[in-house]
Amino acid sequence: MDKSVAKLGQSIKDVLLAINEAPAGVAFIVDEQEKLAGVFTDGDVRRLLLEGGSIDQLLTRDLLGENFVYGRQDETPEQLMQKTNYRIRIIPIVDENFRLVNYFRYEHKTHLTPVAEPALKGNEFAYLMDAYLSTWISSRGEYINRFEKSFSDYCGVEYGVCVSNGTAALHLALLSLDVGVGDEVIIPNLTFGATINAVLHTGATPVLVDINKTNWGVDLEEVKKAIGPKTKAIIPVHLYGHPCEMAELMEIAHRNRLYVIEDCAEAHGAEYDGKKVGSFGDISCFSFFANKIITTGEGGMCLTKNSDLDKKLRIIRDHGMSPDRKYFHEMVGHNFRMTNLQAAIGCAQLERIDSILEERTEIESKYRKILEGKGFEWVDIKDKRSKSVVWLVSCLTKNRENVMAAFRKEMIDVRPFFIPLSRIPIYEKYLFSEKNSLEIASHGINLPTVEGVDFSLVEKIAASL
Ligand SMILES: *Cc1c(COP(=O)(O)O)cnc(C)c1O
Repeated sequence: MDKSVAKLGQSIKDVLLAINEAPAGVAFIVDEQEKLAGVFTDGDVRRLLLEGGSIDQLLTRDLLGENFVYGRQDETPEQLMQKTNYRIRIIPIVDENFRLVNYFRYEHKTHLTPVAEPALKGNEFAYLMDAYLSTWISSRGEYINRFEKSFSDYCGVEYGVCVSNGTAALHLALLSLDVGVGDEVIIPNLTFGATINAVLHTGATPVLVDINKTNWGVDLEEVKKAIGPKTKAIIPVHLYGHPCEMAELMEIAHRNRLYVIEDCAEAHGAEYDGKKVGSFGDISCFSFFANKIITTGEGGMCLTKNSDLDKKLRIIRDHGMSPDRKYFHEMVGHNFRMTNLQAAIGCAQLERIDSILEERTEIESKYRKILEGKGFEWVDIKDKRSKSVVWLVSCLTKNRENVMAAFRKEMIDVRPFFIPLSRIPIYEKYLFSEKNSLEIASHGINLPTVEGVDFSLVEKIAASL
């Protein structure tokens, strides 16, 4: 502390020496009565020299200026912190006689704990290098076959078709079921925009149906009301890891001769009635984007039990080309392929999916314990057939703005739920019903579901709420 103190009337050079010695990196300047007169920094010296000053001139009150930030001995760290910002990071602290007694440094936490991040802790790098060294870096290769086989096995479905991303999976599924212009497709009003975009790209008309408050999935009574002569398919979304009521939904679909495309982008490993989600619909679609439960960077997959659909999915994925006759296009296809490099990462991720899911469940239970009694609501599905997974820790709070501010103040990121599609202008004309989705979406938040969450900070936040 002493070393970082210089006196009024000393030369600028002496002040620089003080700054050089100072643990705080600034010089605290005192007057003849040892009272704090100000703070001088490297930057102040630089400005002085640039304005024609000299290193030998003496430090005067004029040079120091009158306005400087300081704290008092009886102020709390929070109060002191309020006085700091990204430019003023160090402030002197004085006693009742304005004598310098200490200084306060705000240790700014610069790393924001993200809501999601990929956990690449297993064989990801080894398999990726193996694929790379094999030179099979495009969309054919052993890892593609292996990932299709192992992921479809994991879900208990016969066929798996890797694609470039989850949105492509939905688009491909709709195309292979001949959904297009003149058809209506029922989707929940609360989902990520990819679900509706995929429908719109086929030329079909989406019908936005409200969700239920139990599992945040599409409401079955509303689905029944929304079905009309043009309805061709339903896309249930297992939102935030919670399975929809698939038995009842499949029943409604069969009765009305509708296709079911499960959007499982947020629910890898979730179960219903002892079976994995993705094993109920005609086709089910997964995403392996970097924030999903398992990732390939970008990537997706369609699963189906139907061998004809499997063939069709593959043809459309590959430019619509016939598998039997080279360069003969059976239909106007797309290039929706995944690379062998991505599949290599996927194979390694899938090896660890059980422990990845377990870790996520543990993270959620820590939040639930700490935030207990603070007005948070969690999904607790009574239906014993349902087994949710944790994608992003998701809960509801009536106090959302304050809660989000409290987390972000501690550099913990927090996200609001998706915006109900009916409340986004380009989609609003597709509204059928929206009541619950508005309520859930306006209270929902996602908390960081990553390894590095500092739960002592979460405790501090909880205490402040
Ligand atoms: C992430 C997501 C998608 C899209 O997946 P991408 O791989 O990003 O294209 C589709 N539906 C839902 C519900 C999602 O969360």
